[in-house]
Amino acid sequence: MIKEINPGDTALSANAYKDNSTSTYNFLKSLEIRENNSGVSTGLQWLKSKGETIASHSPVDGKLIAVVTSADRESYTTVINKAGEAFKLWKMWPSPKRGEVVRQVGDALRRYKQPLGKLVSYEMGKSLQEGYGEVQEMIDICDFAVGLSRQLHGFTMHSERPGHRMYEQWHPLGIVGIITAFNFPVAVWSWNTMLALVCGDVCVWKPSEKTPLCGIACQNIIAEVFQKNNVPEGVCSLVQGGRELGEWMANDTNIPLVSATGSTKMGKSVAAAVGARLGRSLLELGGNNAIIISKDADLDMSLIGCVFGAVGTAGQRCTSTRRLIIHESIYDIFKDKLVKAYHQLRIGDPLDENNHVGPLIDKEAVSMYLAAIERCKKEGGNFIVEPGVLKGKGFESGCYVRPCIAEVTKDMDIVQHETFAPVLYLIKYHDLEEAIAIQNGVPQGLSSAMMTLNLREAEQFLSSAGSDCGIANVNIGTSGAEIGGAFGGEKETGGGRESGSDAWRTYMRRQTNTINYSTNLPLAQGIKFDL
Ligand code: NAD
Repeated sequence: MIKEINPGDTALSANAYKDNSTSTYNFLKSLEIRENNSGVSTGLQWLKSKGETIASHSPVDGKLIAVVTSADRESYTTVINKAGEAFKLWKMWPSPKRGEVVRQVGDALRRYKQPLGKLVSYEMGKSLQEGYGEVQEMIDICDFAVGLSRQLHGFTMHSERPGHRMYEQWHPLGIVGIITAFNFPVAVWSWNTMLALVCGDVCVWKPSEKTPLCGIACQNIIAEVFQKNNVPEGVCSLVQGGRELGEWMANDTNIPLVSATGSTKMGKSVAAAVGARLGRSLLELGGNNAIIISKDADLDMSLIGCVFGAVGTAGQRCTSTRRLIIHESIYDIFKDKLVKAYHQLRIGDPLDENNHVGPLIDKEAVSMYLAAIERCKKEGGNFIVEPGVLKGKGFESGCYVRPCIAEVTKDMDIVQHETFAPVLYLIKYHDLEEAIAIQNGVPQGLSSAMMTLNLREAEQFLSSAGSDCGIANVNIGTSGAEIGGAFGGEKETGGGRESGSDAWRTYMRRQTNTINYSTNLPLAQGIKFDL
């Protein structure tokens, strides 16, 4: 494990794991999470910092898990300088050799799947299954990146000039700054990092200030592998902090690419700062995802997709289902099925696998949920499954809310906004053109789906006259993407693509090379220039 130089990290005795079961204590211990953690690391050592401390409380039980020191200017500068030095060495490693290191990271994640998945669940609040699923996604992207390390292809072209060869190459960019959101506290880092690493880039990660311990855990896991492989210090660094630190990264000309995942508000700020210095940004922002339920849908199958999409991760996925656009002929039948299903949902401790819905991330998120409900009621929304905040034994953190459903009309303002909570809106439609117009009629463009067994409708939904989103599914819900496809969305979702397909190109710069092996120097377009 990496050398610790932060004072006060001697005891593994933070409140939460003193009070909890032995297994809870052990999972934190095995990830090297301490009571007080430095939040700044270059990969080989944890740095001292005079930055503010961030206390991580679990939304599961409200207890303090541990404390992290955020980066100050001095430690941030050290990290960026080390990363710059590391890039000079790392980019010279053959890509398949970099891929071999990533393969070992995947193996390490297999070994740490249980404790890391548990930490994700405990610090963020998603169900244990989803916590493990998130780590599985990290393993999957490692596997993908290993293969990619031998496939960073460019095209070759035929030159118009005799005795000339023309081709393109892809070169690494440099430092990739990675800013992530709380709701996927580990997977989004790995989507970016594993691709960037095989591409020859070095990474500086700022996790969400709401899930700093997940950042510490990942840094410890990767450092173990890096040390074994003599990877230069600074190839993967960690800087903890909030908005201000993110702004330093967005404005830093040492960082050619900033990959930022979070709210549209954050993305607009990052895009403006990076754009002003003509840097590159990769933005993965908010969604307002809808499922169209056709009269030709398999309603039982649709029900599972809709309920999982709306209440999974307590409605805190960027791809969560927020709107159901239901054909008028089956509206009442499907509504009844939904209401029945919602009444069967078990809300409670996400580490208990009998529960379907865990807490929201914090009390601020609960306030946003309540504000959206108030607004929806004021605008005329009719709640058919009532909202509420749960109180009493097991709900002491104050973060547990009831997933709810409201009948709304397409022109209501609240429906245009992403509320990061389990609030589901039902809208009736008459024909497919109208349904697609409703689906597209919001500022966001992340994920969309249509439930239908009718081939014509399905193809229309997927055609250029159909969904305007980055993701469009048929007979699958809006959430739960696989790593093999490029992930991201249009409009206010930011336009970025991460993970599979050819998303790796964003992490590299393209260079066109023309070589003249003839004895003349003919100019392109037949231009004559004789001396
Ligand atoms: P957030 O915007 O509050 O914070 C996200 C990250 O950005 C954090 O690390 C935060 O510190 C940082 N940040 C905030 N303001 C910044 C600024 N001005 N400059 C630089 N950095 C800044 O988002 P959140 O509450 O953590 O996450 C929820 C949001 O993230 C939702 O809107 C959700 O849809 C979105 N999200 C999108 C995707 C996607 O792939 N499209 C994935 C996950 C989450």
